Amino acid sequence: KPIKIAIDGPAGAGKSTVAKRLAKELGYRYIDTGAMYRALTFKALKKKYNINDEESLKELLKKTNIEIRRNGCCENQIYLDNKNVTYEIRQPEVSNHVSIVAKSKQVRDYMLDLQRQMASQGGVVMDGRDIGSVVLPNAEVKFFLTASLEARAKRRQQELEKKGYYSDLETIAEEIALRDKIDQEREYSPLIQCPDAIYIDTSNYTIDEVVEILKKEIEK
Ligand code: C5P
Repeated sequence: KPIKIAIDGPAGAGKSTVAKRLAKELGYRYIDTGAMYRALTFKALKKKYNINDEESLKELLKKTNIEIRRNGCCENQIYLDNKNVTYEIRQPEVSNHVSIVAKSKQVRDYMLDLQRQMASQGGVVMDGRDIGSVVLPNAEVKFFLTASLEARAKRRQQELEKKGYYSDLETIAEEIALRDKIDQEREYSPLIQCPDAIYIDTSNYTIDEVVEILKKEIEK
C-alpha cells in the first residue's frame, strides 16, 4: 500500500539526497518542498520585491505559479511561471534569503495547499522543515535527519563546488546556522522535531547507510 513518508531536519542534513534515493527505490514520488520556497525567493529577488513586507509578498504570490514536474520516476524539475528554474534556485543568494520569505504565514499557507495536493494520492517521500508536524501530520513514517554543523557545512561546500560556487567552510557554517535559527524561531510552523519522528544523526554515516536505515524503519 503506498504510504506517505515525511523527512524533516535542518539545512544540509542530507535530507534531499536521501529522500530522492528512497523515493527511487520505493517507486514513490519525491517532493522537495524547500525548492518551492526557493523558487518564490528567486523570483522575489530577481523582480526586487521587498521580502520583509507582507503586502509585497501578497502581490508576488498573486502573480506566481510554482509547479514541480516529474521527469521520469523520481527526477523533479521545478517550474516558476512555466520556466524551469531547477538550477537557479540553488544560488547562494537564494539560500541566504529564503528563510525570510518562509517566515510569512501567507507564503506558508500557499505552499501548504500545493504540498497537500501533491501528496494526496500517497506514495510520496516529502522533505522539508514542517512536513511531519504540519503538512502531513498523518504520514505513516516520519524521520528527523540531522548532523553536526561541521558535517553539514562540509556537505554543503561539496554540493556548492559541484555547481561552481566556492566559499570557505566557516562562512558556509555561519550561513547554515543562521538559516536554522530563523527556521526554528519563526512563529508559523517552525522547524521542530516531531515526537513521533524517528531521529537519525547522519554525521558519521554515508548516504547508502542512511538510506538502508530508513528502509529498515519503513519495513517495520
Ligand atoms: O530544504 P532547503 O534547504 O532547500 O530549504 C530552503 C528553505 O526553505 C529552508 O531554510 C526554510 O527556510 C524553507 N523551508 C520551509 N519549510 C519547508 C521547506 C523549506 O520553511 N517545508
